[in-house]
Amino acid sequence: MRILIVEDDPLLGPGLQTGLRQDGYTADWVRDAEAAEHALQLEHFDLMVLDLGLPGRDGLVLLRDLRRDGCCLPVLILTARDAVADRVSGLDAGGDDYLVKPFDLDELSARIRALTRRRYGPSTAVLRVGNLELDTVHRRVTVDQRSLWVSPKEYALLEALMRNADGAVSRAKLRSTAYGWEEDVESNALDVHIHNLRRKLGKHRIVTVRGVGYRLVSEPGK
Ligand code: CA
Repeated sequence: MRILIVEDDPLLGPGLQTGLRQDGYTADWVRDAEAAEHALQLEHFDLMVLDLGLPGRDGLVLLRDLRRDGCCLPVLILTARDAVADRVSGLDAGGDDYLVKPFDLDELSARIRALTRRRYGPSTAVLRVGNLELDTVHRRVTVDQRSLWVSPKEYALLEALMRNADGAVSRAKLRSTAYGWEEDVESNALDVHIHNLRRKLGKHRIVTVRGVGYRLVSEPGK
């Protein structure tokens, strides 16, 4: 899961980034609307956390512009404005949810999970593919109900593969899901993580799709 944080506050921006990373998300931080648009053109994001009070173009205007252009990325609005009118205009402009500052990071995480569930279908917080389960609340992976330790990067990759089980997921998508901009990604890092996941899940579970990327098989051997 990759999240774009749009927040001009020099303390809150990095704070959110650190917090979300500790929660296992890939998180990138930009400070204004232009940088946000640029980021969205360059990369695939799964969700945006958007402050309304931005320098230059307001967050609300950015959100309207994005929706007008057909962008359907889930957007969680952050606002210091504790006025009902501001929250209403945020939701009317295309926001999916909002949080009023100051807020608790745990609540932000819970709302992000709720938005993700709404967007990606399953009404539960647990993804299931064959005998494989991924609990997005506790960030736990189990195989046949036995828990399996995976690193944060492996978790991010596995989640992306499970959300598109039995379909090919491109290397670019996987890389973008698991790594933010400042992270130094070695060219073979993705393959190393996939190799480790295969070692843990069984080598037939993740199939290489030539020229594309990888595919998670729901029932290997069938
Ligand atoms: Ca602000």
